[in-house]
Amino acid sequence: MTDALVEVRNLTKYFYEQDSLLDRLLGDEPVAVKAVDGLSFDITRGETLGLVGESGCGKSTTGETLLRLQDPTGGETRFDGQNIYEMDSAELTAFRRNASIVFQDPFSSLDPRMTIGATVKQPLEVHDWPPETDDDRSKEELRTERVEELLERVGLSGDQFDRYPHEFSGGQRQRIGIARALALDPEFVVLDEPTSALDVSVQAQILNLLDELQDEFGLTYLLISHDLSVIRHICDRVAVMYLGEIVEIGPSEALFSSPQHPYTEALLESVPRVNTDEREREIETLSGGVPSPRNPPSGCRFRTRCPVIIPPASVGVSQRVYRDIMTIRDRIRDQEIDIKGAKEFAGTDDTDAIVDRIMERALDVDLQGTHEQRVREALAFVVEGQWEDGEAQLSEYESVCETVPPQLQDERDHRSACHLREQPPEVEAAVEDAGVSVSTRADD
Ligand code: SF4
Repeated sequence: MTDALVEVRNLTKYFYEQDSLLDRLLGDEPVAVKAVDGLSFDITRGETLGLVGESGCGKSTTGETLLRLQDPTGGETRFDGQNIYEMDSAELTAFRRNASIVFQDPFSSLDPRMTIGATVKQPLEVHDWPPETDDDRSKEELRTERVEELLERVGLSGDQFDRYPHEFSGGQRQRIGIARALALDPEFVVLDEPTSALDVSVQAQILNLLDELQDEFGLTYLLISHDLSVIRHICDRVAVMYLGEIVEIGPSEALFSSPQHPYTEALLESVPRVNTDEREREIETLSGGVPSPRNPPSGCRFRTRCPVIIPPASVGVSQRVYRDIMTIRDRIRDQEIDIKGAKEFAGTDDTDAIVDRIMERALDVDLQGTHEQRVREALAFVVEGQWEDGEAQLSEYESVCETVPPQLQDERDHRSACHLREQPPEVEAAVEDAGVSVSTRADD
């Protein structure tokens, strides 16, 4: 049994748009932006869990929600066995002493009007530290001594107590932020992109400092970063996030040496290599941008960018052709094809000419034979405003990746949510019910 300090179960955090009184009077339905959507993971006492993904994938919202800086929409986070969203105010105060955060931007996270001594001392004052003591000195003297010790420990000098943030470099300011986060001797610290605003030369120094402090004070970290080289530097385990979900989680070594999810593989591909041979390799970057969390893709959320999406076994098309047809299908389903613009550009009402124009703009590859025929027929319906008939025309191209959401397997150290890997029984059953076949599966 693991000694989990933090246990996250089905955590969701949605932000709602179109949710004002006026919107409701006008009859508009609120639109959920699914920033965090059903996360479950543990953080073991003393470990560093890395949370990595592109910007906008929900990493920072996760960190803030599991510190209760934001209220969740659903799910729970247990800290030392206690659900933090059900804590009363005394319990919450104790939790806030035990869990802190280092922010990304050392320039804006410090108050320019406060000396660095006052900044680091602030949490001690808020929590009336020390709680009780036999020491004859006043609390104020003890706090000042504690701040000076902390400043020394993070590589600054106690003599700098009365200086202001503008007198320090970016790296030094982040050291001040770390001293503030450690002031109350917490057990758990969320490090939210702690080095991304710093020069590369300073990044390693800050990461080494965090590593040393973890050993010295027995800290547990959640390290949030978009940068895999930062994650690799100090993390014991890594969780990879895409569009509000964890798609892979596992020990750092296993995840970096044999990633299981196509998204992790693509992220690793984009990391610059030190080795000269590898530096000259062809880098396959991810195509397209991250889809909107307002309307995430059905099934596997990564499918619109996945370089190995599984086409239905019956249609026998290449990846490139399949991905183009899938994009057209998605655009028909979401009614996102600009018929008016295509008509204007074609300069005619002739359906074939308008379909030509749409295909020219929407497809990267030249479709051939029956595939071209099917797409043309579908678009002809769309030009006539018959979107559903157009969608139905391409239903044979439906992929398992589109219809059945993959899930992380249970009970394994290294887990991934992809149909190319063995899936939990309920997902396997849904795949079978849907009558689609998964023809390629990697060994675990
Ligand atoms: S489930 Fe399908 S689309 Fe998603 S990552 Fe796996 S192969 Fe790619």
